[in-house]
Amino acid sequence: MNRWIASILVMVLTLLSVPVMAQSTHSVFFQGSDYELNIYRIKGEKPGKTLLLIGGIQGDEPGGYLSADKYSDIELEKGNLIIVPRANLKSILLNNRGPDGDMNRQFHDNPKPNPMLKVVGKLKELMGEADLFLHLHDGWGFHYPVYVDELRNPKRYGQSLIADAEAFECRDGRELPLGTLGRKVLEKVNAQIANKDHHLHFFDTRTNDPKTPYPAMRKTATYYALRHHCLPAFGVEASKNLPSLKLKILYHNLVINEFMRELDIVPMTPKVLIESPRLEFVEIDVNGSPVVVKPGDALPLKRGDAVTVNKIAANSPRGIFCDVKGKGGLNDLGNTFHIDRNTDIVFRKESKVIGKVHLHLDRQPRRYRPGKTRVFVVEVNGEKRLLLNGEVLELSVDDKLRLLTSFSDGNNAVTPKLNFKGWVPAGVRNRGDDRKFLIALSDELQTKYSVAGKGQRYPVVAETSSGRKLGQFVVQVIRKQEP
Ligand SMILES: [Zn+2]
Repeated sequence: MNRWIASILVMVLTLLSVPVMAQSTHSVFFQGSDYELNIYRIKGEKPGKTLLLIGGIQGDEPGGYLSADKYSDIELEKGNLIIVPRANLKSILLNNRGPDGDMNRQFHDNPKPNPMLKVVGKLKELMGEADLFLHLHDGWGFHYPVYVDELRNPKRYGQSLIADAEAFECRDGRELPLGTLGRKVLEKVNAQIANKDHHLHFFDTRTNDPKTPYPAMRKTATYYALRHHCLPAFGVEASKNLPSLKLKILYHNLVINEFMRELDIVPMTPKVLIESPRLEFVEIDVNGSPVVVKPGDALPLKRGDAVTVNKIAANSPRGIFCDVKGKGGLNDLGNTFHIDRNTDIVFRKESKVIGKVHLHLDRQPRRYRPGKTRVFVVEVNGEKRLLLNGEVLELSVDDKLRLLTSFSDGNNAVTPKLNFKGWVPAGVRNRGDDRKFLIALSDELQTKYSVAGKGQRYPVVAETSSGRKLGQFVVQVIRKQEP
């Protein structure tokens, strides 16, 4: 067989063997920069149309980006969403329309070089994946077909659905009936808004028309979407003059929901899966003084101390309870107990244990403080070495590594497990604790656990028995060049 055909065949077979799952993804571009771009793709269980939502292209329009945010972790029964809640991060962090210029004027054909263009390039790519595009903004005043006053007239942008044309004719001859679709959606949206002053109106900027009063619209994202992708596109404008941010978000949501209905994109209601429950910290009263304790830590006490769990901070507001073992019942939040032996406070989301705090009797208890610095003790080819949290340990394939222990400058009542991600001890059950094994770097490592899947750096993670991560260092495997 021809070598090329063979390699293509292998590639196709590899792709086919990957299970196709209706999974939502989150991708980050330009990470760590002022123009970091986060893109959320939500794929429905059933295939369907794709709606692109872009918010935050101008940083002083929170109604738009906070509304987009609301859709970033929903689940869909049918159809897809692509969401960019914060297109212009720098402008949002500064609450400024455009510190490096207006990003929504960079979509014309010859923009001058500037730091926003990398983001603009990504947004243009996304347009190619969508069936409809909503650009979410907050604008001044209230758009209205006739002049009422300074705030409510045909020149104002707030509370409007903007299209660049009543009907747009694409290069390939297709016609997009923007006016018809937009008015239909607004009729349904306005039916849900009791306050008539807040109704949204259709706003045709006639961007294509040589005599348009809005020639700047030719440089915007929606007009680009029409011209280059024949993608139906609308600007959704909440008013900056609405009495609350909540209303701005609500009106955006109403418009998005109605367009979703129009495209037969069906959300899963109620949302089935949230994040897996995670305990952040707890506030415990000891003899009347509050102490903030991290899960997995130990709280030193004197015999007879009065202990009350006051507050549990977790990523889920409901279904979280705590149980002081050996005292009270299963639900001990707010109850005070005198502690006379070592015990645990167990935190549950419903029945699932999501964290523990150990209550440890000590004749002279040191004051509790959570650790800040974590140290790892390892042995490389028989020599002890200390590594700080986050450090990179360079090893060659000939090296032998032993993980000894890890401690922090906190109370250290918990000695963590140490887990070399991607390395599995031979012949014994893998318990996620690799302490004391002799790890040969020539052993086979599972690339999927390496940093970014590149097979070069492998995290070694310190974890509590319940699997909470306390810190990590990274092993970088240096492979000698073949001569
Ligand atoms: Zn805007």
